[in-house]
Amino acid sequence: MAINFIPNDPLTLASMPIRTQAPRPDRPAGAAGFSIQNPVAEDLFAQGTPDFLFWQCREAALMALETWESLAGTLAEWGIPGPDPTRLPVFPNDGLELNAYYDRESLRFFEHSTAGKSTFSGASTDVVAHETGHALLDAVRPDLMNRILGGANPLPEINAFHESFGDCVAFLTALSDPDTRAALLAVAPDLGTANFVEALMEDLADGVLRFLGPDHPSAQPRRALNNFQWELPTLLPASGPPAVLTGEEHSFSRVFTGCFHDTVRNIFNSGQDRTEGTLWTAAQTAGKLLIAAARKAPETARFFQAVGRAMVLEDQTLNAGAHRDAIVRAFDGHGIRLGSAAMTAPRAALAGGAPRMAAAVGSVLTRATRRDLMERMGIQPGSRMVVDTLELGGEPLAKAVYHRSVSLTGLAAGLEGVVALAPEPVLVGAVGARAALLSALPEPVTTEDEVRSYVSTLVAAGRIELPEGRRRARRRGAVASATQSSLPTHAIRVRGDQKVLVRLRFLCGRH
Ligand SMILES: [Zn+2]
Repeated sequence: MAINFIPNDPLTLASMPIRTQAPRPDRPAGAAGFSIQNPVAEDLFAQGTPDFLFWQCREAALMALETWESLAGTLAEWGIPGPDPTRLPVFPNDGLELNAYYDRESLRFFEHSTAGKSTFSGASTDVVAHETGHALLDAVRPDLMNRILGGANPLPEINAFHESFGDCVAFLTALSDPDTRAALLAVAPDLGTANFVEALMEDLADGVLRFLGPDHPSAQPRRALNNFQWELPTLLPASGPPAVLTGEEHSFSRVFTGCFHDTVRNIFNSGQDRTEGTLWTAAQTAGKLLIAAARKAPETARFFQAVGRAMVLEDQTLNAGAHRDAIVRAFDGHGIRLGSAAMTAPRAALAGGAPRMAAAVGSVLTRATRRDLMERMGIQPGSRMVVDTLELGGEPLAKAVYHRSVSLTGLAAGLEGVVALAPEPVLVGAVGARAALLSALPEPVTTEDEVRSYVSTLVAAGRIELPEGRRRARRRGAVASATQSSLPTHAIRVRGDQKVLVRLRFLCGRH
């Protein structure tokens, strides 16, 4: 038996046509998989039918998961609550929206019609792989979504990285397909010209273009081959048309995606032969480094650089530094200097003895070291610091994270008295028998600037469910307008004695 499958995107069928293939087998019990809603028996269904959408969505999700596992090993379970963390529920068509999302409970895709043309977000392998990418990253780095503390991670680069990671998974998923690689190299032999693989979610962007016009931020596909240069997100506009780099997370994510694309491209072009086989090897090399770095990079305000540096360090461990130049040049091309791998060089001696890496989490750092750190970071004595250990570039390290509560008062009506909890990580190692600081000390003012600037982008895009907006929506009968999102990404919840900004979902369409 066989199914019809769109390997890339409904709008790129001229480059990579719909094809008939055997569906991937069901996932084994005991490994992460999906529970796809509304199953139908396998058959050759026509594009645009619900039965087609079931098999298309299933195949795309499994393809993304398989791609991840070829780089990072078997995934045992997702970071989702509920009785079965091995089966992530997937809704191939959950109703009328021009969107797709991951909300730590499910992946959801939708249908939307404009001018007689329908957009099914679940019909695009790009979109399904992107959302699966959010879920994969969340499975290994739940702190980047920060629901651990019942909040939202409010740093711009960390949220933009989550979006970029979804796009990198979509890019890698496309490259995992031999026919796609052959078609790609026919039009872009050195990956240096625009093509259907580096362009992501074409059909969904076209739906936004038809519905909301060319100036909407999502009215063009995001492109991994781009020339966007990193800038401090606090200095970028809160929103703008597709061609403009803004602080909005999808827009800003393009800088990191460009760095990753160019890492693949540099590794590929540094080889002797350029074949679809060596392209997959280059993509796998870069993909492994990306995943390893994403697992380990400290969640600083400058997260793009932190991940890039961790890629260099991991390359040292995994490949004896063979791709260092390829990585450094790729990031340099987007304005991110990785410098030497000085992420883990001692900067200052700290009070107390060397961290006890093998000790229980509570006693990795001595009391004297913790006290010294808190004093240097301007933290109230008795505040909570989360301490963990990790290995980076072959070196054991301790990571201590303080969550600074940043006031959102003044950013929008409804945010008075609301706070966001922002991570401030520091790395601690040893110099001889002494504890030593291995990273820059976070500055409270920088944390506040970054958080407030990020939340301004959410306000500009209407993504926070504010109590006032909810009341208004109820009065109007909950009909969402073109400008007000019916799917907010953030909301305000009471946690203890604080009103805290929390993330509800990563949303990837009209916003
Ligand atoms: Zn996304």
